[in-house]
Amino acid sequence: ERLVESVADREDQAVEAALRPKDLGEFIGQEKVREQLDLVLRAARARGATADHVLLSGAPGLGKTTLSMIIAAEMGAPIRITSGPAIQHAGDLAAILSSLQEGEVLFLDEIHRMSRPAEEMLYMAMEDFRVDVIVGKGPGATAIPLELPPFTLVGATTRAGLLPPPLRDRFGFTAHMEFYEPGELERVVHRSASLLDVEIDADGAAEIAGRSRGTPRIANRLLRRVRDYAQVKTDGRITKDVAAAALAVYEVDARGLDRLDRAVLEALLKLFGGGPVGLSTLAVAVGEERETVEEVAEPFLVREGLLARTPRGRVATPAAWTHLGLTPPRPQAP
Ligand code: ATP
Repeated sequence: ERLVESVADREDQAVEAALRPKDLGEFIGQEKVREQLDLVLRAARARGATADHVLLSGAPGLGKTTLSMIIAAEMGAPIRITSGPAIQHAGDLAAILSSLQEGEVLFLDEIHRMSRPAEEMLYMAMEDFRVDVIVGKGPGATAIPLELPPFTLVGATTRAGLLPPPLRDRFGFTAHMEFYEPGELERVVHRSASLLDVEIDADGAAEIAGRSRGTPRIANRLLRRVRDYAQVKTDGRITKDVAAAALAVYEVDARGLDRLDRAVLEALLKLFGGGPVGLSTLAVAVGEERETVEEVAEPFLVREGLLARTPRGRVATPAAWTHLGLTPPRPQAP
């Protein structure tokens, strides 16, 4: 199953890359971020300078990688992509930094997960375009200063609050990416459908958008699954009914909850009477890792007002009972 999954994942990634907007004009939504970034980049271009370092914060799938590629494209610069967890040692970072070309964009995803020594090296690199490379070990070790060409760091993080203030302060521009409005997601779906050469009507696009959790990556993924269904079961054209039927097959419900989300809610309601219950207990009950429940399912359930995280544990809201069509055992406390 793993193997099949990873092949499918890779195919998904290839399609995802094909669907990426190439410049700010093609980037849908995030009006404020787009307007601000446009100014930052135009000004840098006019000065013939390298753009300031940019920090992008926001949930997964909102377009941080896409935006970093757009920054590079708009600056006519090459881009290098890496991530915090990939940088284990300061030396890994030194190797990347010292091989950057002038003006290059360095995209550092999950920047909050970098090691401490690497982080400290980054401070100096961002501010002075310089790193100290340590040669040798123990008392004989020497720091050799190395000049770097000017570059633009684009850091991405799920929450800017996760970054230590000295790192946060070294970014000249911070953009917070919001979840997308349904209308914006409809535009994403229409745009992707036309790139994939799929016929879709307005109601079909709205149906997919409404189940996409405010996230373009999910909208694109659902569109591909609905396209599969439409090709096999109908004439290939996506309407509201086709989208709804297809998403029922893939167990994505009208509110965008998938099988995991519903398993979590169901366990909370049916096994623990709506809570409070601890995260670990809940994770065991659904047979998932703690992290999966906490990072994948919960943020969405909380945002949808279906689950609350309290000091005593996870608690279902009255809306959760309604959504699963269940009756609370006794009246909920007001
Ligand atoms: P992660 O943080 O997990 O890396 P991300 O925020 O970097 O996610 P991207 O990989 O940039 O997300 O975007 C996911 C997909 O969503 C891309 O394939 C892209 O086509 C699409 N997408 C993202 N933002 C937009 C947008 N504003 N307009 C159109 N499509 C978008």
